[in-house]
Amino acid sequence: MKALLYQGDKKLSLTQIPEPEGEFIVRVKACTICGTDLKTYLHGHPNFKPPCILGHEFIGSVEKAPAGCGYFKGDCVVVAPYGECNKCENCLHGSKELCNNKRRISSGAFCELVSIPEDFIEDGVIKLASADEVFTLTEPLACVLTAMEKMNLSENSNVLIAGGGPMGVLFALSLSARNISVTLSEPIKDRREMAENLGLKTISPEDAKAKDYDNIVVAVNVPELAELYINEIADGGTVHLFAGLPAQTKLSIDASSIHYRGVTIVGSSGFHLSAFHEAYEIISNNKEHFRRLITHRFGIDEAIKAFETLAAGLAFKVCIMP
Ligand SMILES: [Zn+2]
Ligand SMILES: [Zn+2]
Repeated sequence: MKALLYQGDKKLSLTQIPEPEGEFIVRVKACTICGTDLKTYLHGHPNFKPPCILGHEFIGSVEKAPAGCGYFKGDCVVVAPYGECNKCENCLHGSKELCNNKRRISSGAFCELVSIPEDFIEDGVIKLASADEVFTLTEPLACVLTAMEKMNLSENSNVLIAGGGPMGVLFALSLSARNISVTLSEPIKDRREMAENLGLKTISPEDAKAKDYDNIVVAVNVPELAELYINEIADGGTVHLFAGLPAQTKLSIDASSIHYRGVTIVGSSGFHLSAFHEAYEIISNNKEHFRRLITHRFGIDEAIKAFETLAAGLAFKVCIMP
């Protein structure tokens, strides 16, 4: 099969590799490029050692399924790239997104076929009415929903999302869908406009006053912003470190923010499967709204151009179609 192999910094190659083995095989129809994929492509990532296949936000159609599993060849599906084991210590403590023993699909999805472990069919696969690419957003939205669980939200909350990339926008949309007041801060005018077209309130970062917000989500990997917001958020506020910062990054914060001002610092990455299912429901109920986030589409032969387009800041959510 054809696969897009990540071979190191800024090196991708389209290569023929053996098809994956397994009883449940999905033919990938669309896979969006995630911020993590882009970061890996540009600078490498400790979790993705080359050569490997990136891509985890995908939909497809069933190519092969075991008898009696409820799926047949041709069924359209969205698949979670991984799911918790429900048995390890982290799962039992309720932090399923941090599962130590995740069940995973055979590889990334910038390729033609992926194999799904049989014990993952029941809770990691969702049947779709058609191969609708909007459901590639299920995984990123699941990460947002998982992150929202860590915040201290009330009906009176006023939330600032710092960073108007796709994750920041998904976060803001999810909060406003719950009728929580939210403002998206983003320096790039085009991105602010895009968010405004989706009905979001935006602000440029220099105009955002941290003390006006009781919850701030840092959805951009700028450590200085995390420091600023921890030091200046409203008393009793919560700062969520949503964008990944490189390991060993040190933050310089005023300890009195924690003790005297009662500021809470939280963070999260990834998702658990109930959030994945909830994300699917949310998107199903508002497909046309979410579809506007996907701005570019490329065939797999143009995958390198797809990454370059995203890297150049010319796109929002870029979809690759194998
Ligand atoms: Zn993702
Ligand atoms: Zn586990």
